[in-house]
Amino acid sequence: MTDCIFCRIANGEIPAKIVRQDADTVAFRDLNPQAPTHVLVIPRRHLATLLDAGPEDGPLLAKLTQAAVEVARDLGLADDGFRLVVNTRESAGQSVFHLHVHLLGGRRMRWPPG
Ligand code: 5GP
Ligand code: ZN
Repeated sequence: MTDCIFCRIANGEIPAKIVRQDADTVAFRDLNPQAPTHVLVIPRRHLATLLDAGPEDGPLLAKLTQAAVEVARDLGLADDGFRLVVNTRESAGQSVFHLHVHLLGGRRMRWPPG
């Protein structure tokens, strides 16, 4: 039992539309999508933010990125492209403090982001 909503999704206590999972990562649809495709990719292990990932977590961060790219390919985003975002702490708009990569695609992205 944990208070962290993404830990609870990872361990199956809270339902989510899971699109991919493996021993280290889980990818599921965002509840409030900001693009036609909006998936969150998380490590199963709780890390609050990217700032909590140390040098020993390099392989885990690589797995997160690779999982996100695999989902992007599987969901047909490879040709048109997609965006990966990691909001980190308050100014960036982080609202859930379990590290997650946003995978956004299916529409034209603007730059700079808001
Ligand atoms: P952040 O703002 O921390 O970068 O992103 C958190 C994301 O988690 C938001 O896009 C929000 O819609 C999503 N989210 C929050 N709670 C839940 C939930 O219970 N289930 C799912 N699938 N997504 C959630
Ligand atoms: Zn957590």
